[in-house]
Amino acid sequence: MIFVPMLNWGMETQPPSLEALKWQIDAGADEAIGDVPVDRFAEPPAEPLAVLEPENRQNEENNAKIAQKQAKIAPNGTKLEKKSNNSASKPTQTHKTATKPEITPDIGAYQLAAGAKILDDIAEILKTYEGCALKQTATNLVYCDGNKDADILFIGEAPGAEEDRQGRPFVGPAGKMLDRMLGAIGLDREQVLICNTLFWRPPGNRPPNQLEVAACLPFVERTIEIVDPKIVVMVGGTAAKTLLAQNEGIMKLRGKWFEYETSAMVRPIPAMAIYHPAFLLRSPGQKRDAWRDLLEIRKRLDSVH
Ligand code: URA
Repeated sequence: MIFVPMLNWGMETQPPSLEALKWQIDAGADEAIGDVPVDRFAEPPAEPLAVLEPENRQNEENNAKIAQKQAKIAPNGTKLEKKSNNSASKPTQTHKTATKPEITPDIGAYQLAAGAKILDDIAEILKTYEGCALKQTATNLVYCDGNKDADILFIGEAPGAEEDRQGRPFVGPAGKMLDRMLGAIGLDREQVLICNTLFWRPPGNRPPNQLEVAACLPFVERTIEIVDPKIVVMVGGTAAKTLLAQNEGIMKLRGKWFEYETSAMVRPIPAMAIYHPAFLLRSPGQKRDAWRDLLEIRKRLDSVH
C-alpha cells in the first residue's frame, strides 16, 4: 500500500515518530508516494457549469456504443485481421462473451485499444492512459513479460509489491511459485507470455474493484487478440471471472475448458482457469487439483502443436 505523510503529527517541525510509521506499515501503507500530506477530506474546487461541448456529445455517442459492445459488435463494425489459425480441438464447455455483465465497458478505452497492432503499441498507450485510478498510486506500469509469440498466454490478477517495483509481472513470491508450476509441465518464461487482468498494483494488494477491472479489460482483450495464442490460462479467480464473464468462484471454474472469444476474433481460443500460485502458497492442500489442471493444459498444448 502507499505511504501517505500524516496530516497532523502534532508537532509541525518534528519528524513522524517510529510508532506512527509502524502504525502505517501495519495498516498496509508500505510505499511512499509523496513528500507532502494530501487532505483527501478537503472540499473539491468548484466545477464550472457543464455545457454541451463536443466531448459531452462524444459521451452520448459512447453510451450508444456501449450498447453496441454489449451486443458483441466490434466498435467499428468490422472484424480485425488474425495472425494465424488455431488447430485446437473444441473445448468441452463454451462461453463466448468477454465482458462480465456488471462490468460497464469503457468504449473510449476500447477505441484506444483497437488502434494497437502489436503489444508494444498497447504498452505505449497504457503509459499515457488515465482511465484506471490504480495508476495514481502505483509506482510502475506492469504489462506483459515472456515470449510475445508464445502458444500459451497466462493471465494473472494484478501486480503485487515486487512487480510494482520492477514493472514486470509475477516476479515476487507468487511469481516464483508460478515458475515452479510452469516447470512442472516443462515450460519456462521463454515459452510463455505472462500478463495480468490489471496493469497497476491495487494499494495494499486489495482486490480490484469493478471500475478498475473495466478500465483495464479493453487492453487485456486486445492483448489476447494480438497474441492470438493457442491456449489462454486464467490464473486465479479475478482473471477467470473477468474473462469468462462468470460469477462463479475459482473453485467452480478451475479445471474446465471454456471457449474465449471477443467480437474481433475470428474463432474462439480454448481457455482454462487454474488456482493462483499465491493461493497455493497459502493452501498447499490444493496442489493436487492444481497439478491435475496443469497436466490437462500440457496435454492440450501437445495436441495443438
Ligand atoms: N499476482 C498476480 O496475479 N500477478 C502478478 O503479477 C503478481 C502476483
